[in-house]
Amino acid sequence: MSVEEKTIIGAGLAGLSAASVLSNNGYKVNVIERGPSVGELRGQDFQVIRNYGKDLNFLDSLKEYGININHRQPIRKIVKYAPSGKSMEVSSDNGPLFYVIKRGQDESSLDRQLCDSLNKKNVEFEFNRNAHISGDIIATGPILRNITGFGYTFDGIDVDPEKILLFMDNDYAPKGYIYLAPFGKHSASVAAVSFDLTYNLKMLLDRFLEKNKVIREIIKNYKHKESFTGYAYSNYPETAKIAGQLFVGSVAGFVEAARGFGVKYSILSGIFAAKSIIQNLDYDVLWKDAFGKELKEGLNRHFLLASLNNDGYEKLLLGDKIGIGQYEKVPESISSFLKHIILTKELKDWQQQYSLEKMFK
Ligand SMILES: Cc1cc2nc3c(=O)[nH]c(=O)nc-3n(C[C@H](O)[C@H](O)[C@H](O)COP(=O)(O)OP(=O)(O)OC[C@H]3O[C@@H](n4cnc5c(N)ncnc54)[C@H](O)[C@@H]3O)c2cc1C
Repeated sequence: MSVEEKTIIGAGLAGLSAASVLSNNGYKVNVIERGPSVGELRGQDFQVIRNYGKDLNFLDSLKEYGININHRQPIRKIVKYAPSGKSMEVSSDNGPLFYVIKRGQDESSLDRQLCDSLNKKNVEFEFNRNAHISGDIIATGPILRNITGFGYTFDGIDVDPEKILLFMDNDYAPKGYIYLAPFGKHSASVAAVSFDLTYNLKMLLDRFLEKNKVIREIIKNYKHKESFTGYAYSNYPETAKIAGQLFVGSVAGFVEAARGFGVKYSILSGIFAAKSIIQNLDYDVLWKDAFGKELKEGLNRHFLLASLNNDGYEKLLLGDKIGIGQYEKVPESISSFLKHIILTKELKDWQQQYSLEKMFK
């Protein structure tokens, strides 16, 4: 019997997840990557993966697909800051709220851990090749862009390894936020994310690092800092199968639009694309069933947050300490902002404006 061959363009999280499932099911896989090795083109940063609500034990659930993520930092608290400096601590009784993972080429990065899950006998990498968008699975990361981030990874600092900090302030991260994600006691990424690409985030973040007392205190004795930057693309596409090719991860728009989380969707869509090939299933049905509703909710939350000014951010703080259940709800005090937003229309306009399908026609 002849062995089936498949080509994947891009060796990021989505491409590697697809390659893992295909290679472990006997397919020969060619992975084309424009960088010189896995994770090398991006700077090293720490990213967060949600572990509450529907995402509880997400990383463990990947074991079913032969994917083991061992290097991860459990996070037990989020502290959210309003522009005035007022803060709210969020915690849970039900295990870690998040895991922080490393990205990049380091051996303990998520990228490299996904690589370890491949059946190496069945996978060939072609590095240093900037391929055309033509393959069975397209996993190139964003071609269209509507989210941007700029940050630094600091080493040699003293930081609480179980706490993420989140700052909402339109003076420093307009239409977005600034976060600190620790990895161990002595390293953390601090980055600004915005859903408006017109701002100079580096300048705004540098100013924030100088002015913000909480962050200043944490990073004051850093030994080394390295910058990272990047884009993401968020949408709810009607289809992620274009001209017979399966689009996975952030090239398809699979990034949550309120917070910019895309790791989970990249891994899942890579798995689903492989599964649809192996079992001859409809890829669109698989991803829509698993996270279509979440993507739409993320977009609606984005429309709400993007309409808030700094006073609105103050109202997002519901008390000094709250549980995670309360954190997820839109507070009543700001739900009046929602009234002028016609969510279905906003969603349709967004889908049109950022249509990948239209671009490939
Ligand atoms: C600053 C920043 C912070 C973020 N923080 C978080 C976070 O905390 N949590 C979270 O869940 N998400 C976060 N995200 C989003 C997350 O990084 C992405 O959703 C995720 O990396 C997308 O994975 P991917 O596999 O689709 O693409 P990528 O990881 O971008 O991989 C794409 C790969 O394809 C290669 N490639 C591109 N074009 C070609 C070509 N033509 N030929 C060959 N190879 C090609 C690239 O070199 C790359 O290796 C963040 C994004 C940014 C920018």
